[in-house]
Amino acid sequence: MRTYAEVAEYTCDAGRALSWDFMGRPSDIIVVGAGIVGCAVAYELACRGASVEIVDERPVGMGATQASAGVLAPYIEAREGSPLLDLTVRSLGLFDHFMERVSADSGVTVPYHRTGTLDIATTDDELRALRTTAEVLARRDVPALLLDAQAVRAEEPQLGDVAIGGLLIGSHGFVAAGELTRALVIAARRRGAQLIEQSRVRRISRLHGDMIVHTDRGSLTSNAVVLAAGSWSGKIAIDGVSATVPVRPVRGQLLYLGWTGTPLRRVTWSGRCYLVPWDDGTLLVGATVEEAGFDERTTVAGVSELLEAVCGIVPHARDAGFRSARVGLRPATADDLPVIGPSTAIPNLMYATGHYRNGVLLAPLTAQLVADAMLDNRIDPQLDSVSPARFGGL
Ligand SMILES: Cc1cc2nc3c(=O)[nH]c(=O)nc-3n(C[C@H](O)[C@H](O)[C@H](O)COP(=O)(O)OP(=O)(O)OC[C@H]3O[C@@H](n4cnc5c(N)ncnc54)[C@H](O)[C@@H]3O)c2cc1C
Repeated sequence: MRTYAEVAEYTCDAGRALSWDFMGRPSDIIVVGAGIVGCAVAYELACRGASVEIVDERPVGMGATQASAGVLAPYIEAREGSPLLDLTVRSLGLFDHFMERVSADSGVTVPYHRTGTLDIATTDDELRALRTTAEVLARRDVPALLLDAQAVRAEEPQLGDVAIGGLLIGSHGFVAAGELTRALVIAARRRGAQLIEQSRVRRISRLHGDMIVHTDRGSLTSNAVVLAAGSWSGKIAIDGVSATVPVRPVRGQLLYLGWTGTPLRRVTWSGRCYLVPWDDGTLLVGATVEEAGFDERTTVAGVSELLEAVCGIVPHARDAGFRSARVGLRPATADDLPVIGPSTAIPNLMYATGHYRNGVLLAPLTAQLVADAMLDNRIDPQLDSVSPARFGGL
């Protein structure tokens, strides 16, 4: 039986008081959402000794995560000056060790490659943008190569003659997001975590200091809750929190093509689409960016846009087989930054959502920041830029 003899108060850098309403650290925690973010958080919490339950209405990784291209490319995704760049670069730096740990703890080898990205320019404007990025990378001492048209084709012979230049960034990579998420669950379960599937969370409330998670199959009780429900996070009512977390779905469709002949060497990026060459011979072509509400359909318009784009930069794509199209809802916020950190409205609620285009890349860092805050009372200064407090009474 737990006792709540005192309310421990911690203060984060921005000066907001946040409270964990129990002695010391929470011993049992419910994570709502079994996407890459929820599973990474659950794994980290379980590794550090917490008793964890992961609740989801779908099978593991079947939200946005199953559609993710798994590209790990902070210097393409984030701009200099944005907090997103620091967050994504830091998370990329954690990836090698994170993958080693997950592999050792789960016994699963997840496809993961750090073969770099080749970002190509097909217009003068795009070439200027690549030069600017190359200057930023030089200032940061990040190895990168600015290539002319001839060097681009030498680097990636599959490209047609549309590229007038390119930027090769060797530290980037890609990972199989679905397989990683399933491996995280295996690893977390080996550390004692429990997975509760087919349970839709309707509401979160508090009773005598306990957190109650109301699902359509009954109620669960814990010390603390992590809300990691991706695009659906705002649909869960939370007693005592007047605002809903402002995450909106941004639809992304992508294709899997059965490649014939020599595969592409690495992730290849253009203004119209990006390409990921998988070990099994498929080529992933991503991705549309659509405001379509919660509509999780692939569409003729989305598929044809991507087919046209890939054939425009890699002519040999016309010979590829059509394997499948996938779709997912990226959890976006108004400032394109995730929402990570403790609620400022009620105790014992932690947010880990809104990761938009970079949930896979940001998973190791999110897990670390959440576990540091919940279990070791360490509020990382980088949580300031992603705090739920920036959206009011969350
Ligand atoms: C086409 C596409 C390409 C992408 N490419 C990349 C990429 O290359 N690199 C990268 O880093 N990121 C990429 N992303 C983004 C990345 O996939 C997301 O940021 C990430 O998957 C978000 O993970 P999540 O765990 O927060 O959400 P999700 O994976 O959506 O998981 C949320 C989970 O919560 C569950 N849930 C929701 N509501 C409830 C409820 N009420 N009760 C119970 N369970 C609930 C859902 O069922 C779901 O399983 C891409 C996304 C898309 C769509």
